[in-house]
Amino acid sequence: MPELPEVEALVTFLRARAVGRVVARVDAPGIHVLKTYDPAVTALAGLELSGVRRYGKFLDLDVSGLHLVTHLARAGWLHWRDSLPTAPPKMGKGPIALRVHLDDGSGFDLTEAGTRKGLAVYVVRDVHQVPGVARLGVDPLSAEFTEELFAGLLTGVRSQVKGVLTDQSLIAGLGNAYSDEVLWAVGLSPFKAAGKLTAPQVTTLHTAIVDTLRAAVGRADGLAAGALKAEKKSGLSVHGRAGLPCPRCGDTVREVSFADKALQYCPTCQTGGQPLADRRLSRLLK
Ligand SMILES: [Zn+2]
Repeated sequence: MPELPEVEALVTFLRARAVGRVVARVDAPGIHVLKTYDPAVTALAGLELSGVRRYGKFLDLDVSGLHLVTHLARAGWLHWRDSLPTAPPKMGKGPIALRVHLDDGSGFDLTEAGTRKGLAVYVVRDVHQVPGVARLGVDPLSAEFTEELFAGLLTGVRSQVKGVLTDQSLIAGLGNAYSDEVLWAVGLSPFKAAGKLTAPQVTTLHTAIVDTLRAAVGRADGLAAGALKAEKKSGLSVHGRAGLPCPRCGDTVREVSFADKALQYCPTCQTGGQPLADRRLSRLLK
């Protein structure tokens, strides 16, 4: 799933390739991804794509005052094409949910793969009309994300630190993968109660969030949209690496599975050598 660094790289890529071009046509074969109906997605045709921004993990294309906002979710992606076929894609068939043609023949597809359909597209006059955007907390790469503000978010919170880091209404843009990376970087258990962190732990965690995201943005910067997934995967130390050696200590990376996702961590680096209970697994074994 694309998180802040990948969406940021898409923004940079689209600024260079698409901003200043006029939307020639929009095809919406995956009509179910459209969460709004007024303005119609076809209203974008004939208007200039004047800007691109990121809000958390949302991508906002400013089309002369109308906003095409998308959340790529877990299986969504943006595929850039220097030359798009002119024949419209078949309705309701295949992974293409939305195709945006630009006036020079280039453009992009928003696609979704897999069975859990999560891709969402909105056309709004004000980006804050998108409920997920209106709810977003602080952007961890903004100047507002100070150590004091972060400490304030954690104060008195009983939830596990993993849950707090991925709560978009608290911190916007950090997801399952980079939160695993951040917790591994500082040696914290994902299940540690957020409100019980010591002041030095809060400081190192704050630094790790910013450093991890900045490093990932740096690696992704300048890459074409198609290369981002591979780059994200190659830059990860524990996330998605269950069964492989921890790059720091050599212990085997373990995972905890939930209904629809899993987190990974290193027992030696993060939990004093103790494997965390995999509750789903324990339940199955009872
Ligand atoms: Zn380790």
